[in-house]
Amino acid sequence: KFISFEGIDGAGKSTHIAYVAERLQKQLQAEDVKVICSREPGGTPLGETLRELLLKQKMHLETEALLMFAVRREHISQVIEPALARGDWVISDRFTDASFAYQGGGRNLSLDKLNALEQWVHPHLQPDLTLLFDVPLEVARARLDATRDLDKFEQEKADFFAATRKEYLRRAKEFPQRFRIIDSTQSIEAIRLQLDILLDDLLSS
Ligand code: C5P
Repeated sequence: KFISFEGIDGAGKSTHIAYVAERLQKQLQAEDVKVICSREPGGTPLGETLRELLLKQKMHLETEALLMFAVRREHISQVIEPALARGDWVISDRFTDASFAYQGGGRNLSLDKLNALEQWVHPHLQPDLTLLFDVPLEVARARLDATRDLDKFEQEKADFFAATRKEYLRRAKEFPQRFRIIDSTQSIEAIRLQLDILLDDLLSS
C-alpha cells in the first residue's frame, strides 16, 4: 500500500510520519512486510541533489514544476514501484498533490499543465491513502517561526499559503476516496487516535 502525507509548511505532518511508520512496521513485521519511508522532493540520490537546488535557487515556475516531476519520475521507478511490487508499504512525505497545491495553487501554474505532467509521469499510480494535515495559516506560520530556518518556499507570504491550502482542500473534495483531512490544530494524542483508526481500516482492506 502507498500512503502520502500532505499539508502546508508548518501543518505538522513530519511529527506524525514517524508515528505512522513505526505503528505500521510493528503490525506488518509478522508478515515480513517492510515500511519504506521516503519524501519529495527527494527520495533518491538524484532527487536529493535536485531538492537542494529546488529549495535554494530561484527559477522559472515551469522549470520548478518540471524538476518536481523529474524528481518524482526517479522516485517512482527507483523506490515506490519496486517496493509495491515486493509487497512492501511506502510512506511518502509529499507526492503529486503537493505539485498541484504549491506550483498550481500557490504559484498559479495552470492545472492543465500539471494534469498533463501527471498523466505523463504516473498515469496509473495513486496513493491508497492521502493524509492532508490542515491548519489555519497563522498556526502554521507560528510553528515554522518557532522551529527552523526557513527555505525558499517557507519564506513566501501568507497569500501564497492561503492559495496552497485552498488547492489542497479542493483536491481533497475532488478525490474523497483517497483523501482524509486531519484537523492539525488538535493535540498530538487526538491526531494519533484518528490515525490509528485510519490505519486499521487500511490494514484490513
Ligand atoms: O515537506 P518539506 O518541508 O520537506 O518540503 C520542502 C519544501 O518544498 C517545502 O517548503 C514545500 O513547501 C516545498 N514544495 C513545493 N512544491 C512541491 C513540494 C514541496 O514547493 N511540489
